[in-house]
Amino acid sequence: MSSCCTPEPFQPADDSPRPDAGAGRALRTIALVGPPNSGKSTLFNRLTGLRQKVANYPGVTVEQRMGPMAGIGRSDLTLIDLPGIYSLDPFSEDARVSVDVLEGRMPGTPKPDAILLVLDSLHLTRQLMLAAPVLALGLPCIVLLNMSDLMELRGGTIDPLRLAQELGAPVARISAARGTGLDAIQMFLNRHRGEDANKSATTVLPVVGNPVSAHKWAAQVSARTGYRAPLSEAATRRLDSFLLHRFWGPIFFLVVVFSVFEVVFTIGQPLSDGLGDLLARAGLLATGFLPDGWIRSLVLDGAWKGVSSVLVFLPQILLLFLFIGILEDSGYLARAALIADRVMRTIGLNGKAFIPLLSAYACAVPAIMATRTIENKRDRLATILVTPFMTCSARLPVYMLFIAAFIPPIAYLHGLVGLQTLVMLGLYALGFLAALSTARLLKSSILKSSQTPFILELPQYRMPTLRSLGLRLWDRAWVFLRQAGSIILAVTLALWVLANFPRHNGVAPLLSESVIGRLGHWMEPAIAPLGFNWKIGIGLISSVLAREVMVGTMGTLYGADPQTQSLSLQTALHHDLSLGGAIALMVFFAFAMQCTSTMAVVKRETNSWRWPAMQFIYMLILAYGAAYVANWAVHLL
Ligand code: GDP
Repeated sequence: MSSCCTPEPFQPADDSPRPDAGAGRALRTIALVGPPNSGKSTLFNRLTGLRQKVANYPGVTVEQRMGPMAGIGRSDLTLIDLPGIYSLDPFSEDARVSVDVLEGRMPGTPKPDAILLVLDSLHLTRQLMLAAPVLALGLPCIVLLNMSDLMELRGGTIDPLRLAQELGAPVARISAARGTGLDAIQMFLNRHRGEDANKSATTVLPVVGNPVSAHKWAAQVSARTGYRAPLSEAATRRLDSFLLHRFWGPIFFLVVVFSVFEVVFTIGQPLSDGLGDLLARAGLLATGFLPDGWIRSLVLDGAWKGVSSVLVFLPQILLLFLFIGILEDSGYLARAALIADRVMRTIGLNGKAFIPLLSAYACAVPAIMATRTIENKRDRLATILVTPFMTCSARLPVYMLFIAAFIPPIAYLHGLVGLQTLVMLGLYALGFLAALSTARLLKSSILKSSQTPFILELPQYRMPTLRSLGLRLWDRAWVFLRQAGSIILAVTLALWVLANFPRHNGVAPLLSESVIGRLGHWMEPAIAPLGFNWKIGIGLISSVLAREVMVGTMGTLYGADPQTQSLSLQTALHHDLSLGGAIALMVFFAFAMQCTSTMAVVKRETNSWRWPAMQFIYMLILAYGAAYVANWAVHLL
């Protein structure tokens, strides 16, 4: 299916020397350049054989990544992944980074010796606009027309040879998702091995610096090369007329979101229970080999109970990300961003801010980095400040634990709507509303600015590939397991020690008289109005590190208490906490900023501790107030 075409011996359009073309050097560093959604991340994964998050929005690839090209047996070459960009005009931070790297001005990054330019064949006319400035850099470059599988399937046409002649650079049709056509890249790299790169430097060039000509140029080139976009336009339009409909669009969106959560509960809960049983049995079996005494208690009651109480939520997290992956890869989430643009405008931001907010459902850290695509500084800051309100996956184990323990599995509408699902959705909505109202507050006061237009290229609808979904799930699972194996393990071990000392004549104290017990009791007056007991207090302190540490802490504390040791964590919590306290706790988690990594990334992105400190205090006050009201309201009812 793939083909690689090299132009006839090329006469540069202008004779000016190109001093930086890497003359006489062997290839060492290759840059991967392309617009967002062109399939750059997928290709990067293929070429390096590395695992990497594949996402469908500009911004997620904002971090620069490097890797040896081991995926095609060229470990001697380093591939640098540049942010997704539409042009080299430096009005966004992404484009500035790209230009700096390509021109060798990025400290710590070697100047690339050649470029792989990835373009989406389905949107070639627009994407060619990036080709002009990139080729004008004068580095050896191959143009990769990606998504050729879809192009073929949907009846689009392109003549790569003609395009190669027009561009004066080799052109190849590839499919990064299917891994076809990559031999063209091999050939390109082999041809440039150790050669004087200057000889093969390509040139074309519409008048760079005159945007109107560059616009016109791309359209002319695509017309001259017989380019015809795929015929699926009509089908796409039909689907869009429903999915983007003013009335039906948002309704469909809500139905999709609701169904996802319903499935996460109905399928995820039994899987999670099964995994819990398995982990408990494995723990007992393994500790059977240890002598009875404090070591066994440390390993089983401290570490194992703590870590496995978090691990059991892996099925739900994977299910949630499977659905998000399907929605994203099919092209639907970009439509959701468009629908959301209307809402975002009412709060003074635009649809661009919705993209980081959406990715914050996974984790606020990459989401905050994704705000670099927002050109307006004030919009960007407002988005950074509200992103941690979005319900990240670390909150999910906390919600799941307390919902399963306190909310009965009642079903309405013939079993279609579950109460537990409704509570979960309510918590997600709470975070979203907090983000929107805080953004509105900021944009109507300290961060006021004029509105900027929202431009988003809607991707074609497509079938998600198993590989891309698999990579996503692996990525999420890995982050979750790493956290459980490091922070959560360390915290639960420390908690066990604090819960078992001071000892008298070698006998462990009662939990409430241990070091941790005394600390908990000391802070109890401050949290009693929220319906929290001293054990929850300890959880609140330890979860400042990361939210899911809360669950591990509960596992260790109830596991260390002889009165609750034999009960499941859910039952133990149910006996120990009021319904008001449980609801208040979930509300507290919806609002509070309990994540040191997020604080660190906000500091890095805003270049001061002032913003993360203000954010932490604001979110804490909101969390305390809302939890107080929730506890009070439940008692009143
Ligand atoms: P990036 O934003 O440029 O890094 O793009 P991604 O690598 O995240 O790709 C965007 C979407 O296109 C993902 O859902 C990929 O699975 C999908 N994709 C990438 N390359 C191909 C391809 O060659 N064929 C098909 N069918 N899908 C692809």
